[in-house]
Amino acid sequence: MFKSLWVRFLLLLFAVSLIALSAAFLLRELMVRDFREYLEGEMEDRVYWVTASLESTYEKFSGWERQSIVEDAVWALMMGFDVKLYDTNGMLIIDTKSAIETLSPLVKKRVMAISESRTGRGSGKYVPYILFLGGKEIGQLKVKFLRPKKESLFIERSNRLLLISLVALGGIAILLSIVFSRRLTNPIEGITEAAVAIGDGDLGRRVGTAGHDEIGRLAGAFNRMAQSLQIQESLRKKLTSNVAHELRTPISAIRGELEGMIDGFIPADKEHLQSLYAEIGRLRNVLDAIEELSQAEASTLTLRRHEFELCAFLRNIVERFTKVFRDKGVVVKLECGVGLVVSADPDKLSQVVINLLSNALKAAKAGGNVRVKAWKNDSETVMEFLDDGTGIRPEDLPYIFERFYRGSEGGLGLGLTIVRELVEAHGGRVTAASEYGKGSAFTVILPQ
Ligand code: ADP
Repeated sequence: MFKSLWVRFLLLLFAVSLIALSAAFLLRELMVRDFREYLEGEMEDRVYWVTASLESTYEKFSGWERQSIVEDAVWALMMGFDVKLYDTNGMLIIDTKSAIETLSPLVKKRVMAISESRTGRGSGKYVPYILFLGGKEIGQLKVKFLRPKKESLFIERSNRLLLISLVALGGIAILLSIVFSRRLTNPIEGITEAAVAIGDGDLGRRVGTAGHDEIGRLAGAFNRMAQSLQIQESLRKKLTSNVAHELRTPISAIRGELEGMIDGFIPADKEHLQSLYAEIGRLRNVLDAIEELSQAEASTLTLRRHEFELCAFLRNIVERFTKVFRDKGVVVKLECGVGLVVSADPDKLSQVVINLLSNALKAAKAGGNVRVKAWKNDSETVMEFLDDGTGIRPEDLPYIFERFYRGSEGGLGLGLTIVRELVEAHGGRVTAASEYGKGSAFTVILPQ
């Protein structure tokens, strides 16, 4: 259970709120303590006023004059004290209760009402204070503090506040942690489910990508990975069926002719043997293309770079193609500035050029034009292959560099994959742009 992310999140939020509440509790304790100290200090001051008043009454009347002391005792009660006054022999002279009894019923009622409204319970025990006059002991006052009502009110209110905040904060913490942890874990669970579904073969499965946070980016990356897996998988299926198809046609033709020869329907003469030979040549081409691809994929390791003049290199290849282009009624032109030196593997680069020219030738229409351009900018050498042939459908364009991806009249679908592998092995990149029905442009960029 504790392995679940949302439970951990819940516990974490819980711990944070607990820490916050403990801090609030501690703060409240400190405040109450300070408040009590302040009140006690004030009480002490008041006790001294009461003792001073009693001492001066004693001095005024040269002894304990009962009526005047009653006033002092009542005054002490109003200040929040229950008092008992003893003389030097330990005889009780007056206490708060008997002082109040001496008052008229109306005054007594008023005094009691005021005292009750201001004070709460007593603090428990009586504290003795010795009374002096001119250095001589004249009696003893025992005082019991009656806790001011405002103190208990303050404490009660702070306790209630603490309890409310405990319940409210705890509730909010639980609610927030449930909402947030669900919001956090729901998309992760969605991704897990999708990953399991993809693992089980449902390659079309995708997840929602709402939000630009880490989870949103994870979902986006997951979808891109799933998309690429789906493409790879469909290409793998295509590979199997394409290779089988490409091999089956020449093999069937060879087999048919050989059977005819064995049965004596077809003469085993030079003409028929040449046709067999041509079919075997087709078989070889398919196998060569697959081999070329695997070599191209490993070419980063086997690159043999030389510095050479690019224009002469391109002219050489283009001239080899001129005849086949002319046979199709297509004009091929090279536009290239002299003195363009590149550092590349000439064999691999010629394969790049040949594949791109072959595609242009396939796409070109009679009366069309193919142009090969090369130039250098600051840090790159650029080669461009332009044709005004069939062009590429927009829906095909993003995939033409994938293995075995081919248009309706394509060959094996490996030529451009080989081009991309070889160009990238040189640290370069290749891009394609096309307008369907108008022509295409392939750009090869090689770093210096
Ligand atoms: P192949 O040419 O063997 O089919 P490629 O990988 O060389 O394989 O090309 C993939 C596909 O891209 C081709 O089948 C074709 O549909 C399209 N293509 C490539 N180059 C061109 C071009 N110059 N004009 C039009 N379509 C092109």
